Amino acid sequence: MKIMTLNSGSSSLKYSVWDMPARTQLCSGVAERVTIANGLIEHRVGGKVKIVTRRDFPTHEAAFTSIVELLTDDVSGVIDDMSEIRGVGHRVVHGGEGFARSVRIDDQVVKAIEEFCALAPLHNPANLAGIRAAMKLVPNAMHVAVFDTAFLSTLPPHVYIYGLPYEWYEKYRIRKYGFHGTSHLYVARRAAALLNRRPSDVNVITLHVGNGVSVTAVKKGLAYDHSMGFTPLEGAVMGTRCGDIDPAIVFRVMQKENLNPTQMEDILNKKSGLLGITGKYVDRRDIIQAAKAGDDRASLAIEIECHRLRKYIGAYSAAMGGVDAVAFTAGVGENSPLHRAKICENLEFLGIVLDHEKNESVLGGVEAEVSAARSRCKVFVIPTNEELIIAEDVKALLERG
Ligand code: ADP
Repeated sequence: MKIMTLNSGSSSLKYSVWDMPARTQLCSGVAERVTIANGLIEHRVGGKVKIVTRRDFPTHEAAFTSIVELLTDDVSGVIDDMSEIRGVGHRVVHGGEGFARSVRIDDQVVKAIEEFCALAPLHNPANLAGIRAAMKLVPNAMHVAVFDTAFLSTLPPHVYIYGLPYEWYEKYRIRKYGFHGTSHLYVARRAAALLNRRPSDVNVITLHVGNGVSVTAVKKGLAYDHSMGFTPLEGAVMGTRCGDIDPAIVFRVMQKENLNPTQMEDILNKKSGLLGITGKYVDRRDIIQAAKAGDDRASLAIEIECHRLRKYIGAYSAAMGGVDAVAFTAGVGENSPLHRAKICENLEFLGIVLDHEKNESVLGGVEAEVSAARSRCKVFVIPTNEELIIAEDVKALLERG
């Protein structure tokens, strides 16, 4: 059966088509600059042939219409007709406390996603725009919402309740939710497979280190702790997000610089993190290059980022009572041996020993072990594959009927 996945952002629409149960990705692509002028779609068939279409997409529906043309075209197409698509899996960033697993989208689910817009104002409205476009243009397929928060729904209350007035949780649902859940689920499952063990038999720490950064403690197959919080702002230092800070800083600086809450939120989300520290760089490649050229703040940014992530490995090992594997994923996790080596420094006491030669050689989306043979805790690089998890969830719901 053919299944489509869709990840709809505010100005982008990522898609892929899968042949299931063979788990073969037939094509993938991304429409960019949606709702902005000069749109384009990069469409890849079988991971190789690349077709670029340039056109303006005033709406998500317009972008989806062009994607449908590419999917059914004689040259770029992988299907004859959209009726071949049996199910469409939609990535939804925030499912609140209500969704512990993927669900078929009906009016009630749409309403719930709308309600969670308040908790994820940057993401859920964009996810909904994609859902509405796809439901209109592929009306006969089953549409499924796959929530980024679902895998993290097993965090226990002593992890997700903040040290704040409890009524805020009761009134406003202020708690840790976590994000990137589908990526952490995929990576944790693969890590268990690489250990030749069942997920329920092992403890894994998964580090999703991209522009956004999150870490999950996966205890016996279930998410037990996680670095992001009520929003993705909490936790590690990220490309432009501050991560953990003393909340008192916020009030101090708002007063000093005469900032309103919206301006402050914008600075913490978009002008902090590695950009804030270096003053100019977000991309880790630029930061590494600048550090090599003698830029002290770039070197400091690398040290800060890696120090924080090393602490997460220590803290989560303690929280779980031991760790069998550490797994790196996403842009930096998959491509930067320097970050992996620095993060794993001084962790021998946990049985974590890198094979530096192997670590240096693993780049560009390759799955590999990078720990030394004597390392009690294995270290893996596992390219994330959220689309496969989404396609599998849709297939399971289709089979259930
Ligand atoms: P997003 O969170 O936007 O999905 P990605 O997972 O695509 O992010 O990761 C983007 C980050 O990956 C960027 O900061 C980029 O610099 C980093 N990256 C990509 N390739 C390399 C590399 N070879 N060395 C270091 N960092 C890299």
